[in-house]
Amino acid sequence: MPTPRTATDDQPLVGVLALQGDVHEHLVVLDRVGARARRVRRTEHLDGLDGIILPGGESTTIGKLLHRFGMLDPLRFAVAGGLPAFGTCAGMILLSDELDQSEPQHLVGGLGVRTRRNAFGRQVDSFDTAVDVAGIDGGPMDASFIRAPKVVEVLDEAVEVLATVDDDPVVVRQGPVMASAFHPEVTGDDRLHTLFVSGIRSGRPAS
Ligand code: GLN
Repeated sequence: MPTPRTATDDQPLVGVLALQGDVHEHLVVLDRVGARARRVRRTEHLDGLDGIILPGGESTTIGKLLHRFGMLDPLRFAVAGGLPAFGTCAGMILLSDELDQSEPQHLVGGLGVRTRRNAFGRQVDSFDTAVDVAGIDGGPMDASFIRAPKVVEVLDEAVEVLATVDDDPVVVRQGPVMASAFHPEVTGDDRLHTLFVSGIRSGRPAS
């Protein structure tokens, strides 16, 4: 079982789930925002973490690998037990409690939302846009959407919608669990990571 987080020191230890996807980009941003970063490839790498990032990539593949390596339940328990988690794109899909699809897929859960994969339409599989995020100062974020998911329904009233694109939620948070449909780790705009890490530092979700 993962040990409980301490979440008080200035340089929290943040894991990046490193089974598939854009792991390196998150490690670099974590370093820039003053966190210690650890690649998480096995269950024991969850021990002692103050938070975890689930990167973009391919959510079906990451889910299958989590299952195959026996990490799915430990990660579910850790997140359900209050480990702060931040998912980007595929990571948002994995943190969703439900998916808007009939095919089953392994999920970690933690966010009371229903999410649809690859939901922004064929002609705009990938696009960049400016997104205003509640709680983030200094103007809109540069947001890179790459075959991005969409939250199609908020299932839990504890979910805060921090940003939308065309009325669709693209940044959501429920307690210490946060997710963005876009990739903040590829644009050089570190403010969402800073928000996540400052929430860990203060021992509660940043607001
Ligand atoms: N479309 C991918 C999925 O369904 C997510 C894409 C991404 O993370 N950029 O998992």
